[in-house]
Order: sequence, then C-alpha cells, then structure tokens
Amino acid sequence: VADTSIIWTDKVWNPTTGCDRVGPGCDRCYALTMAKRLKGMGSAKYQTDGDPRTSGPGFGVAVHEDALTIPLRTKKPQRWFVNSMSDLFHPRVPAEFIARVFAVMAQTPHHTYQILTKRAPRMRHLIGRPGDGGDQLLATTTDEATARALYDAEWPLPNVWLGVSVEDQQRADERIPLLVETDAAVRWVSAEPLLGPVDMTRWLGKETVVGMTTTADGWENIDGPGIVWLVAGGESGRGFRPLDLDWARSLRNQCQGADVPFLFKQVGGPTPKSGGRLLDGREWSEYPVTPDPKEV
Ligand code: SF4
Repeated sequence: VADTSIIWTDKVWNPTTGCDRVGPGCDRCYALTMAKRLKGMGSAKYQTDGDPRTSGPGFGVAVHEDALTIPLRTKKPQRWFVNSMSDLFHPRVPAEFIARVFAVMAQTPHHTYQILTKRAPRMRHLIGRPGDGGDQLLATTTDEATARALYDAEWPLPNVWLGVSVEDQQRADERIPLLVETDAAVRWVSAEPLLGPVDMTRWLGKETVVGMTTTADGWENIDGPGIVWLVAGGESGRGFRPLDLDWARSLRNQCQGADVPFLFKQVGGPTPKSGGRLLDGREWSEYPVTPDPKEV
C-alpha cells in the first residue's frame, strides 16, 4: 500500500492492526477491505516494517512490538499517520501498549503524529483531560523505560495531533465533545466518508471551553483550542455512498467562519480519484499552523 495514497500525511505507521466496525462510517472500511485482499494474496510477504499486515484468520486486533522502533530509527522528520489499518483506542489494544506508542512519540519530537479514532471515550479516558499530564497513561505501565519517557515528556505532547473521525451529525455530537475534553496540542476532525450534513461550529476554532478547573472561588472554565483542523471527503470504492457537495461546502464555510484550516480530500466515487478534489473550482489543502518540530 503506497503511503502517499493519503494526501495529508507522509508515511503510515501501523503499531497495531485489526479492527471491527463501530458505526456507519465503517461500512466500507478501507482497512477491512485491504485486509481481505492481502489475506487472499498470502499476507506473509507483506510483513515488513511499516507495511500493513493482516493478523490471524480474520482481521483480529494485533499489536506489533517490532513496529514500535520504526520512528525511532527514522531520522528524517516525517508526518506519520498512526494506524491506517486499525483504531489505536480499540478495546482490545492493551492500555500498556498504547502507553508504549505514546512513549515512542514522546521520544521522537522531530516527527509529527496524526492519530484518528472512532473510540473517543477510551481516548478521553486514557489520555486524560488538559492538565492531567499523562497520568492515566503512566498508571497503565509497569515498564520502566516507558514510564520514564512519559514522565519526562511535555504534556500534551506537542508533536501529536489527536483527532476523531465523524461521518454524520450523530457521531460528531458523540465524539467531538470527548475530543475537546482530551488533553491534546492539536485537535482535528476527519469527516470522511461524509454521509450527511454536519454542523460543528461550536467546536471549531482556537477559543473553546476545553475543561473546568477548581479555583478559590469555585469552578472556572479552561479555555483552549478546540478543533483546529478539518479534513473532509466523500466515500470511494464499490457501492460508495455519494457525497452531496453542499455538505462539504457547509463544512468549508464553517471553517472559514472560525479561521480553521480546511482540507478537502476527495469527492469520492468508484475510485478515490474518480470525483477529483475540487470544491467550487479549486483545491482546499490547508494545514494547521504548528510549532517547528524539535531536533533530536
Ligand atoms: S474504526 Fe476505522 S479501521 Fe476500524 S472498522 Fe471503522 S473505519 Fe475501519
């Protein structure tokens, strides 16, 4: 699988593979389709560093210890999409393994990591709220090196973008509030495959309530950045559910109103390229402004 097939990232890092469906956005899951295809071709030859792997007889969740060292061994700064073939916060990925993934990201500040989940409650639970400083994750690990890396890290990890995938208003309402409550340097949303109109204006932009804190006078809101990057796109593949361009237009307008960068990935169709990338006659390829990656 060519890493470049996802336009908004440089490389794919798959420390876990395997998943199962959790909402209508999963109906034509690329990872499940690809797993089936790889299995048909004999998965063994795909079991090399960084390549998607299938595991077991179906698409069971598997963790890949050997993949953990890949970013550590990659000196050139890269933007990595974490888990194109899985969901890092799937209930069958042990919390201790998630802690190890975060420890690797903490130890490689020259890379940027883009994480997307549909399991926002577990992400919120394990990563904690703004100000928690990674304590929940630390509590899951008995491994000394992992604990040290998490303990020494700056929280939230500046090089980790945490995001949720949403396909419709219901999933936006369920997942985005949990993301906004989760400690993260950059919060983003992938609305792909977009299956209906979504209003996410209340979570977009730099000034959003991200939490509460106690003060001498009682409770006070913690203000911070909400969603600072939105990617949207239509579905592709056999039996794709067509995108109504007005849904994408509305999201773009919401972003413009909140000064949030917007990336339109694809219209969709029988193949990812079928419908092209134009929305109202132009491409939309904006990215969040983030600090320069640190040297290691
Ligand atoms: S959560 Fe993602 S990887 Fe898992 S089944 Fe759904 S679309 Fe596929």
